[in-house]
Order: sequence, then C-alpha cells, then structure tokens
Amino acid sequence: MKIEDSYLEKIKEEILTIIEPGIYYCYQCGKCTAGCPISYVYEYQPNEIIRLIQLNKINVIFNSNSIYLCTSCEICSSRCPQNVNIAAIMNYLRIKSWHYKRFKLKRIYNFYKIFLKIIEKFGRSFEPLLIICLNFLNKTFFNDFDSALKILKKRKIKIIPELLKNRKEVSFIIKKYS
Ligand code: SF4
Ligand code: SF4
Repeated sequence: MKIEDSYLEKIKEEILTIIEPGIYYCYQCGKCTAGCPISYVYEYQPNEIIRLIQLNKINVIFNSNSIYLCTSCEICSSRCPQNVNIAAIMNYLRIKSWHYKRFKLKRIYNFYKIFLKIIEKFGRSFEPLLIICLNFLNKTFFNDFDSALKILKKRKIKIIPELLKNRKEVSFIIKKYS
C-alpha cells in the first residue's frame, strides 16, 4: 500500500510538535549510534534516522528494518548531548508504520501481531504459545525446538498461561490502539 504524502507530512508534524520538537538540534555527532547495542543490524543508524526525518524521508525509514528491530533500550536518548529523544522517535515511527503494514520483514510483522493477540487474550505474554504460533506462521516449524525442550526440562517457562485479573481492560486498550 502506497503511503500518501499528506500522511507522511502529518507524521513529521507530530514528531516536531509532540514527540521531539528538538530534532533539528541534532548535529550528527553519532553518539547515539555508538551506544546502540544493535546498530550493527540496522540498515539506517539512529543518527541517520534523525537525518532522514529532517530531510522528509520518512518513507525511506518505513522501508528499512531499523525501527522494527529497535529494542527501546533508550541508550541512544541518554547519550545524546542535545537531548534528542531518539528512542521515542523510533517507537513512534514503529507505531505509525503499523497502520500501513509497512513491515520490511514479514517475520517482524508476524511477531507483533501474535504478541499483541496473546497480550489481548491473557493480559500478559505467554512465550510457549508465541513461539509455536510464530514458527507456524513463518513455516519454521522446528525452529529452536531443542532449546525449548531444555528450557521446559528446567521449568524455566510455564506451560499453562497466567491470566491477568484486569485482562479485559488490557484487551480494551489493545483493541482501541492497535
Ligand atoms: S547523539 Fe544526538 S546530536 Fe548526536 S547524532 Fe545522535 S541525535 Fe544527533
Ligand atoms: S532505543 Fe533503539 S535505537 Fe536507541 S539505543 Fe536502544 S536499540 Fe538502539
């Protein structure tokens, strides 16, 4: 699905007014990228993401893998000498991309979809079901099967999900915002 220019402009405007008004204070020192633990797998580094937004190239960001692999650890934001909240921007762009299903990797899209469904149902994560569903959707049926057996033997994960008391409220939030 093609993203309309007006939608991309709206995203830029929201970044500037709500998420990070100080985006133009970035002077490309690269400290954010130097601290990012997974920048080595990114197609665009955190400092490049900032530059792309400044240049109105948000569609380029949506078509790369960076925002979907970001772990929201916030190291980048804490290292920035200009207090640019890069982690919040990454998070915001990821949410916005969901609307257009602009996931570069289908596996990442599947992960988000199943993860949210499980949270919606149980109110919290349930890893065994997440892994089974992911392997099924990705057609990697026996992926990590040997590790799963070892973990189960050591009783590191539960085989019956714990249900959150207020899961209906969690479900309401997920349905409303995803
Ligand atoms: S650390 Fe801050 S100023 Fe430096 S490149 Fe990253 S966002 Fe820009
Ligand atoms: S929040 Fe994302 S971009 Fe920033 S350091 Fe962590 S993983 Fe890297």
